[in-house]
Amino acid sequence: MEYHELTIDNAVKLLLKHEISSFDLASALLDRIEKHDEKIGSFITVDKDLVMEQAKKADKDIAKKNTSALTGVPIALKDILCTRGMKTTCASRILENFIPQYDGTVVKKLKGNGAIIIGKTNLDEFAMGSSTENSAFKITANPWNTLYVPGGSSGGSAAAVAAQFCCGALGTDTGGSIRQPASHCGVVGLKPTYGRVSRFGLVSYGSSLDQIGPITKNVKDAALLLNVISGNDKMDSTSAKVDVPDFTKAFDKFEKGSLKGMTAGVPKEYLSVDGIDPEVEKVFNNAKKIFKDLGVKIKEISLPHTDYVVAAYYIIAPCEASSNLARFDGVKYGLREKSSDDIIDMYKKTKSKGFGPEVQRRILIGTYALSAGYYDAYYGRASKVRTLIMEDFSKAFETCDFILTPVAPAPAFKIGENIDDPLTMYLTDIFTLSANMAGIPGISIPGGYSSKGLPIGIQMMAQRFDEMSLLRAGFGFETTIQLGKKFPDL
Ligand code: GLN
Repeated sequence: MEYHELTIDNAVKLLLKHEISSFDLASALLDRIEKHDEKIGSFITVDKDLVMEQAKKADKDIAKKNTSALTGVPIALKDILCTRGMKTTCASRILENFIPQYDGTVVKKLKGNGAIIIGKTNLDEFAMGSSTENSAFKITANPWNTLYVPGGSSGGSAAAVAAQFCCGALGTDTGGSIRQPASHCGVVGLKPTYGRVSRFGLVSYGSSLDQIGPITKNVKDAALLLNVISGNDKMDSTSAKVDVPDFTKAFDKFEKGSLKGMTAGVPKEYLSVDGIDPEVEKVFNNAKKIFKDLGVKIKEISLPHTDYVVAAYYIIAPCEASSNLARFDGVKYGLREKSSDDIIDMYKKTKSKGFGPEVQRRILIGTYALSAGYYDAYYGRASKVRTLIMEDFSKAFETCDFILTPVAPAPAFKIGENIDDPLTMYLTDIFTLSANMAGIPGISIPGGYSSKGLPIGIQMMAQRFDEMSLLRAGFGFETTIQLGKKFPDL
């Protein structure tokens, strides 16, 4: 096995047995990034010296037997997670040179567990988008075919894992930004329950929707990362005071090769969505069959408010975004347009220059919808719809353990294909938005390929704080499905 092929699980084992060193592993990955990332564009920042310094320290710790869960394992971070002393740009001009004074909680936890931060990955500016084309700095390409998008907004992280530039990565998901790029890149993406992982040090987009989660080569690695990043945090009052189980225990139950006793709900509204690609349907039907063969009972369920999900999300998320992004005013952080007449002029010039078109669109929509006289008609109304969506899910989970759906209506589209048509782009989020609206966990797992050889994932969602069921069923599915090639040739 070559270095770049190592999963987190493999790397940990080999490092602890002294069969490889973190120095050699990190060097091999840096070489691979150097050689291939120009055409993929998954990273915004890679600080080689810092990577090697961390790797050397990890090797010393391993020699002293002073190790923790991820000692010496290179992990990539979406560049919206604050890293102390290292640029955190959110792929925006406005934060182009912003260097945080502190590590976000997940970053602290990764470092505290010995992980090596190999670099910061590209994204749609402030995580707004579904294709990673909205970055102010570069477009990320899909490693399976560089004419196609990797999905978004965590497209850099998903591409970096698929291209095997790192053992695993973190992304963030406000409406699908972990699951959808994972699906388009053929890797595993897990959005935890809202509140499972602290958002402290995550630059906020939609605060009531955002969650940080793993993007990995397989389901087991997702559990290993989730173990490290989960937990209540006094720095984030929305992080939940719930126990964090050892998520790898989910796999013990699968030893018998069966998922008997589990019920999967299939929402009837999802497959009648307009424009669903027959190849996505095919992958989905095959997934149903695999689960059935594993002893899972498949049951039709109903999520009656599915038709309203996109409209409600695209009110709530921009409203929260417009409020969150007000802080980037040229005074407190990053860019300031100096040639201004007065303070209002400075705000205007800074924001016009600092924010890209999609971010400006969201701020305008959000500010409009929140303005006096419109609040009840838009945000208030969308919040009521959100409650109905939550109730749909609570009802559905009375009769099933997890809900099985496609991740996106179609495989990855071509770079440039949807960029001038925001509405079409928004509609591609139809299957992923609900999990964020309801605060429930969701996972995307590779389920097959299109005729063009692009990956297609399947999604599972479970009740709040029941990541265990997703991991268990996901692991069962992953070990049963015959996928052929798992990673692209670069
Ligand atoms: N595509 C969705 C949006 O643009 C979701 C993005 C995300 O999950 N960060 O808002």
